[in-house]
Amino acid sequence: MTPVIQIPVPLTYEHVRAAPKVLLHDHLDGGLRPTTVVELAETGRYRSLPTADPEELGAWFTSAADSGSLERYLETFAHTVGVMQDRAALVRVAAECAEDLAADGVVYAEIRYAPELHVERALGLDEVVEAVLEGFRLGTERAAQDGNRIRVGCLLTAMRHAARSREIAELAVRYRDDGVVGFDIAGAEAGFPPTRHLDAFEYLRQQNSHFTIHAGEAFGLPSIWEALQWCGADRLGHGVRIVDDLTVDGGGGVTLGRLAAYVRDKRIPLEMCPSSNIQTGAAKSLAEHPVGLLTKLRFRVTVNTDNRLMSGCSMTSELTDLAHTFGYGWADLQWFTVNAMKSAFIGFDERLALINDVIKPRYAELIG
Ligand SMILES: [Zn+2]
Repeated sequence: MTPVIQIPVPLTYEHVRAAPKVLLHDHLDGGLRPTTVVELAETGRYRSLPTADPEELGAWFTSAADSGSLERYLETFAHTVGVMQDRAALVRVAAECAEDLAADGVVYAEIRYAPELHVERALGLDEVVEAVLEGFRLGTERAAQDGNRIRVGCLLTAMRHAARSREIAELAVRYRDDGVVGFDIAGAEAGFPPTRHLDAFEYLRQQNSHFTIHAGEAFGLPSIWEALQWCGADRLGHGVRIVDDLTVDGGGGVTLGRLAAYVRDKRIPLEMCPSSNIQTGAAKSLAEHPVGLLTKLRFRVTVNTDNRLMSGCSMTSELTDLAHTFGYGWADLQWFTVNAMKSAFIGFDERLALINDVIKPRYAELIG
């Protein structure tokens, strides 16, 4: 009998791209193609873009996000949201989002956006939601024609500084059977605690609905504590600052504070977005990013893109960079992927089917 020689599959960008991936934290208005921004600006008569050259515009987005200036970072979203104010634009952006993710090997994604930011012209909140759902349907269909299967759910975001969270929560529940799988709040953490939106969270809990909260990105432990213990969040958007509740001694031993222990014991999913955190200064570099320590301690870590356009990243680049920085192999990449799939807001049977029929068989081949 000839022995079968197993050649390990190298962990390269191309192989990671082909592997199934799961994305839970990605903003619709942070993932447009630069060409699309330019074309939509033209048809929608949006005149404030810094340049009409798609290549220059792409570079402008990443450098503005890299600048360390919050004003410039926020300006990038003024442009993307500025060109997403009519039905055709929203359908196109959502369809391309699904296609781009599917081409990147993402098999399940939860994409979030704030409907209240897209009603500057003619659209109402319901029309915004319906346009985006239609876009995801179209994009999923086109991706399948190209041989890339993806399932996309969406999360409706309410802005922390605004006062429409209850209305947006009701919107999320209204469209729960049509592809909206949950709710989120986003925006500046400091000065706008999640407890301002308690009535929205109480309503969602009464409706047996799911939600995540951007917490512990720039702001520390109180924000995480409020999101979990006052609001009842199912997941934490970022949650990086949970490391403030860990004490590392000289010998490398780690002691968990009560909140960190709660997060780990309860398997609260952390939607970590390394590239984005480096741009906003929540982490100095990838090597110093808490994702390394939190993974070692087996928190429920998931890896995400946050804003693909502003960070110039993809699920493939995030996972490949992480693997190369921390020495992860295929088994670790499978762990991140299964963690994310377990933490998704769709039903248990669908999550299980994706894990057992799509993710595990493919990683079994890669792990060898
Ligand atoms: Zn985010």
